[in-house]
Amino acid sequence: MIQINQVNKSYGHVHVLKDIQLEVPQSHVYALIGPSGAGKSTLIRSINALESIQGGEIIVDGISVHDKKTNINLLRSDIGFVFQSFNLYPHLTAVENVAIAPIQVKKVPKEQAEEKARALLTSLGLGEKFGSYPAQLSGGQQQRVAIARALAMDPKVMLFDEPTSALDPEMIKEVLDAIRNLASSGMTMVVVTHEMGFAREICNQIVFMADGKIVEVAPPETFFTNPQSDRAKDFLSKVL
Ligand code: ATP
Ligand code: MG
Repeated sequence: MIQINQVNKSYGHVHVLKDIQLEVPQSHVYALIGPSGAGKSTLIRSINALESIQGGEIIVDGISVHDKKTNINLLRSDIGFVFQSFNLYPHLTAVENVAIAPIQVKKVPKEQAEEKARALLTSLGLGEKFGSYPAQLSGGQQQRVAIARALAMDPKVMLFDEPTSALDPEMIKEVLDAIRNLASSGMTMVVVTHEMGFAREICNQIVFMADGKIVEVAPPETFFTNPQSDRAKDFLSKVL
Protein backbone atom coordinates (compact mmCIF):
# COMPACT_ATOMS: atom_id res chain seq x y z
CA MET A 1 0.00 0.00 0.00
CA ILE A 2 2.90 2.34 0.84
CA GLN A 3 6.17 1.93 -1.02
CA ILE A 4 9.16 4.04 -0.12
CA ASN A 5 12.01 3.62 -2.57
CA GLN A 6 15.51 4.99 -1.96
CA VAL A 7 14.25 8.24 -0.47
CA ASN A 8 16.72 10.97 0.37
CA LYS A 9 16.09 14.35 1.88
CA SER A 10 18.25 17.21 3.10
CA TYR A 11 17.54 20.46 4.86
CA GLY A 12 20.26 22.66 3.38
CA HIS A 13 23.33 20.50 3.78
CA VAL A 14 21.92 18.43 6.65
CA HIS A 15 21.11 15.00 5.23
CA VAL A 16 18.06 13.85 7.25
CA LEU A 17 16.71 10.88 5.27
CA LYS A 18 19.31 8.53 3.85
CA ASP A 19 18.34 5.90 1.26
CA ILE A 20 15.07 5.03 2.99
CA GLN A 21 13.58 1.79 1.70
CA LEU A 22 10.34 0.48 3.19
CA GLU A 23 7.14 -1.20 2.12
CA VAL A 24 3.96 -1.22 4.21
CA PRO A 25 1.48 -3.82 2.93
CA GLN A 26 -2.27 -3.22 3.03
CA SER A 27 -3.90 -3.65 6.48
CA HIS A 28 -0.53 -3.71 8.21
CA VAL A 29 0.46 -1.43 11.08
CA TYR A 30 4.07 -0.26 11.27
CA ALA A 31 5.55 1.62 14.22
CA LEU A 32 8.32 4.11 13.54
CA ILE A 33 10.52 4.44 16.58
CA GLY A 34 13.94 5.86 17.35
CA PRO A 35 15.78 8.65 19.11
CA SER A 36 14.94 12.32 18.78
CA GLY A 37 16.20 13.76 15.51
CA ALA A 38 16.26 10.35 13.79
CA GLY A 39 14.02 11.61 10.98
CA LYS A 40 10.76 9.90 11.97
CA SER A 41 8.56 12.99 11.54
CA THR A 42 10.33 13.97 8.34
CA LEU A 43 9.71 10.53 6.89
CA ILE A 44 6.04 10.26 7.89
CA ARG A 45 5.38 13.82 6.68
CA SER A 46 6.97 12.93 3.34
CA ILE A 47 4.38 10.19 2.84
CA ASN A 48 1.61 12.75 2.29
CA ALA A 49 3.87 15.34 0.69
CA LEU A 50 4.03 17.70 3.67
CA GLU A 51 7.77 17.46 2.96
CA SER A 52 9.49 17.48 -0.41
CA ILE A 53 12.17 14.87 -1.10
CA GLN A 54 15.33 15.18 -3.14
CA GLY A 55 15.70 11.62 -4.34
CA GLY A 56 13.74 8.43 -4.64
CA GLU A 57 10.01 7.93 -4.77
CA ILE A 58 7.05 7.33 -2.44
CA ILE A 59 4.03 5.52 -3.86
CA VAL A 60 0.73 5.31 -1.97
CA ASP A 61 -1.92 3.04 -3.45
CA GLY A 62 -0.24 3.27 -6.86
CA ILE A 63 0.13 7.06 -6.83
CA SER A 64 3.56 8.68 -6.87
CA VAL A 65 3.27 11.23 -4.07
CA HIS A 66 5.90 13.73 -5.17
CA ASP A 67 5.18 13.55 -8.90
CA LYS A 68 4.36 17.07 -10.16
CA LYS A 69 1.35 15.67 -12.00
CA THR A 70 -0.20 14.23 -8.82
CA ASN A 71 -3.24 16.12 -7.50
CA ILE A 72 -2.05 16.72 -3.97
CA ASN A 73 -5.48 17.51 -2.50
CA LEU A 74 -6.96 14.33 -3.91
CA LEU A 75 -3.99 12.34 -2.62
CA ARG A 76 -4.28 13.85 0.85
CA SER A 77 -7.93 12.91 1.09
CA ASP A 78 -6.74 9.28 0.82
CA ILE A 79 -4.15 9.73 3.57
CA GLY A 80 -5.38 10.63 7.05
CA PHE A 81 -2.80 12.40 9.19
CA VAL A 82 -3.04 12.88 12.95
CA PHE A 83 -0.48 15.11 14.64
CA GLN A 84 0.72 15.51 18.18
CA SER A 85 -1.17 18.81 18.38
CA PHE A 86 -4.77 18.27 17.41
CA ASN A 87 -5.17 21.35 15.16
CA LEU A 88 -8.97 21.45 15.33
CA TYR A 89 -10.81 24.54 14.15
CA PRO A 90 -11.57 26.39 17.42
CA HIS A 91 -14.72 28.08 16.11
CA LEU A 92 -16.34 24.84 14.90
CA THR A 93 -18.12 22.17 16.97
CA ALA A 94 -16.91 18.58 17.04
CA VAL A 95 -19.42 17.59 14.36
CA GLU A 96 -18.51 20.59 12.19
CA ASN A 97 -14.79 19.87 12.54
CA VAL A 98 -15.34 16.31 11.31
CA ALA A 99 -17.76 17.23 8.51
CA ILE A 100 -15.97 20.24 7.03
CA ALA A 101 -13.47 18.47 4.76
CA PRO A 102 -16.01 16.09 3.16
CA ILE A 103 -18.29 19.10 2.54
CA GLN A 104 -15.59 21.37 1.12
CA VAL A 105 -13.26 18.91 -0.60
CA LYS A 106 -15.59 16.08 -1.61
CA LYS A 107 -18.74 18.20 -2.04
CA VAL A 108 -20.74 15.85 0.20
CA PRO A 109 -24.12 17.44 1.13
CA LYS A 110 -23.98 19.02 4.61
CA GLU A 111 -26.66 16.81 6.20
CA GLN A 112 -25.04 13.64 4.94
CA ALA A 113 -21.56 14.73 6.04
CA GLU A 114 -22.82 15.66 9.51
CA GLU A 115 -24.68 12.38 9.88
CA LYS A 116 -21.49 10.50 9.11
CA ALA A 117 -19.57 12.77 11.51
CA ARG A 118 -22.00 11.90 14.30
CA ALA A 119 -21.58 8.18 13.57
CA LEU A 120 -17.78 8.47 13.62
CA LEU A 121 -17.78 10.51 16.83
CA THR A 122 -20.11 7.95 18.44
CA SER A 123 -17.82 5.10 17.42
CA LEU A 124 -14.95 6.96 19.10
CA GLY A 125 -16.90 7.35 22.33
CA LEU A 126 -17.84 10.99 21.74
CA GLY A 127 -21.59 10.58 21.37
CA GLU A 128 -22.20 13.22 24.04
CA LYS A 129 -19.91 15.80 22.49
CA PHE A 130 -21.37 16.55 19.06
CA GLY A 131 -21.96 20.23 19.80
CA SER A 132 -18.87 20.89 21.92
CA TYR A 133 -16.17 23.30 20.79
CA PRO A 134 -12.52 22.19 21.06
CA ALA A 135 -11.95 24.43 24.10
CA GLN A 136 -14.71 22.52 25.90
CA LEU A 137 -13.03 19.14 25.29
CA SER A 138 -10.15 17.40 27.07
CA GLY A 139 -6.95 16.70 25.16
CA GLY A 140 -7.89 13.05 24.71
CA GLN A 141 -11.33 14.01 23.43
CA GLN A 142 -9.84 16.57 21.03
CA GLN A 143 -7.42 13.98 19.70
CA ARG A 144 -10.31 11.56 19.10
CA VAL A 145 -12.16 14.30 17.20
CA ALA A 146 -8.98 14.73 15.13
CA ILE A 147 -9.00 10.98 14.39
CA ALA A 148 -12.70 11.16 13.41
CA ARG A 149 -11.91 14.11 11.16
CA ALA A 150 -9.23 12.12 9.35
CA LEU A 151 -11.54 9.08 9.03
CA ALA A 152 -14.36 11.21 7.61
CA MET A 153 -12.49 11.33 4.30
CA ASP A 154 -12.46 7.50 4.04
CA PRO A 155 -8.68 7.37 3.87
CA LYS A 156 -6.85 4.33 2.56
CA VAL A 157 -3.98 4.96 4.94
CA MET A 158 -3.68 6.60 8.36
CA LEU A 159 -0.49 8.25 9.57
CA PHE A 160 0.07 9.25 13.20
CA ASP A 161 2.97 11.36 14.47
CA GLU A 162 3.20 10.92 18.24
CA PRO A 163 -0.58 11.09 18.71
CA THR A 164 -0.38 10.79 22.50
CA SER A 165 2.71 12.86 23.32
CA ALA A 166 0.77 16.00 24.19
CA LEU A 167 -1.71 14.16 26.42
CA ASP A 168 -1.93 13.71 30.16
CA PRO A 169 -1.28 10.09 31.15
CA GLU A 170 -4.91 9.31 31.96
CA MET A 171 -5.95 10.32 28.43
CA ILE A 172 -3.35 8.34 26.56
CA LYS A 173 -5.27 5.08 26.87
CA GLU A 174 -8.47 6.33 25.22
CA VAL A 175 -6.53 7.52 22.18
CA LEU A 176 -4.46 4.34 21.96
CA ASP A 177 -7.69 2.33 22.23
CA ALA A 178 -9.09 4.27 19.26
CA ILE A 179 -5.96 3.50 17.22
CA ARG A 180 -6.07 -0.13 18.30
CA ASN A 181 -9.69 -0.42 17.07
CA LEU A 182 -8.68 1.06 13.75
CA ALA A 183 -5.90 -1.50 13.46
CA SER A 184 -8.38 -4.33 14.03
CA SER A 185 -10.63 -2.86 11.35
CA GLY A 186 -7.83 -3.48 8.84
CA MET A 187 -6.66 0.10 8.31
CA THR A 188 -3.13 0.44 6.92
CA MET A 189 -1.19 2.61 9.37
CA VAL A 190 2.18 4.08 10.18
CA VAL A 191 2.50 5.32 13.74
CA VAL A 192 5.43 7.31 15.14
CA THR A 193 5.29 6.58 18.85
CA HIS A 194 7.20 6.52 22.08
CA GLU A 195 4.65 4.12 23.57
CA MET A 196 6.70 0.94 23.39
CA GLY A 197 4.05 -1.28 25.00
CA PHE A 198 1.53 -0.12 22.44
CA ALA A 199 3.94 -0.60 19.53
CA ARG A 200 4.70 -4.08 20.77
CA GLU A 201 1.06 -5.01 21.11
CA ILE A 202 -0.55 -3.72 17.91
CA CYS A 203 2.15 -3.35 15.26
CA ASN A 204 3.10 -5.92 12.66
CA GLN A 205 6.58 -4.49 12.28
CA ILE A 206 8.82 -2.15 14.22
CA VAL A 207 10.89 0.21 12.07
CA PHE A 208 13.81 1.52 14.08
CA MET A 209 15.38 4.71 12.72
CA ALA A 210 18.50 6.52 13.82
CA ASP A 211 20.55 9.26 12.17
CA GLY A 212 18.31 9.45 9.11
CA LYS A 213 18.53 5.75 8.34
CA ILE A 214 16.36 2.70 8.86
CA VAL A 215 18.56 0.58 11.07
CA GLU A 216 16.24 -2.37 11.72
CA VAL A 217 12.84 -3.64 10.63
CA ALA A 218 11.52 -6.57 12.63
CA PRO A 219 8.36 -7.98 14.18
CA PRO A 220 7.87 -6.60 17.70
CA GLU A 221 8.73 -9.82 19.53
CA THR A 222 12.03 -10.08 17.69
CA PHE A 223 12.86 -6.42 17.96
CA PHE A 224 12.16 -6.04 21.66
CA THR A 225 13.70 -9.33 22.80
CA ASN A 226 16.57 -9.62 20.37
CA PRO A 227 17.56 -6.32 18.72
CA GLN A 228 20.38 -6.79 16.24
CA SER A 229 22.16 -3.46 16.13
CA ASP A 230 24.09 -1.71 18.91
CA ARG A 231 22.10 1.44 18.10
CA ALA A 232 18.78 -0.34 18.82
CA LYS A 233 20.16 -2.05 21.94
CA ASP A 234 21.31 1.31 23.25
CA PHE A 235 17.93 2.92 22.47
CA LEU A 236 15.96 0.12 24.14
CA SER A 237 18.15 0.24 27.24
CA LYS A 238 17.04 3.86 27.65
CA VAL A 239 13.32 3.53 26.94
CA LEU A 240 12.31 0.14 28.34
P1 ATP B 1 11.59 13.66 17.49
O1 ATP B 1 11.55 12.29 18.13
O2 ATP B 1 12.29 14.64 18.36
O3 ATP B 1 10.26 14.16 17.02
P2 ATP B 1 12.26 12.98 14.73
O4 ATP B 1 12.84 11.62 14.59
O5 ATP B 1 10.84 13.17 14.39
O6 ATP B 1 12.56 13.53 16.21
P3 ATP B 1 12.73 14.96 12.68
O7 ATP B 1 11.83 16.00 13.21
O8 ATP B 1 12.29 14.22 11.48
O9 ATP B 1 13.17 13.94 13.82
O10 ATP B 1 14.11 15.67 12.37
C1 ATP B 1 15.19 15.01 11.68
C2 ATP B 1 16.34 15.98 11.51
O11 ATP B 1 15.94 17.01 10.63
C3 ATP B 1 16.77 16.67 12.80
O12 ATP B 1 18.18 16.77 12.79
C4 ATP B 1 16.12 18.04 12.70
O13 ATP B 1 16.89 18.98 13.40
C5 ATP B 1 16.11 18.29 11.22
N1 ATP B 1 14.96 19.14 10.80
C6 ATP B 1 13.65 18.83 10.94
N2 ATP B 1 12.87 19.79 10.42
C7 ATP B 1 13.71 20.73 9.93
C8 ATP B 1 13.52 21.98 9.24
N3 ATP B 1 12.29 22.43 8.94
N4 ATP B 1 14.63 22.66 8.88
C9 ATP B 1 15.86 22.20 9.15
N5 ATP B 1 16.12 21.04 9.79
C10 ATP B 1 15.06 20.30 10.17
MG1 MG C 1 9.18 13.90 15.43
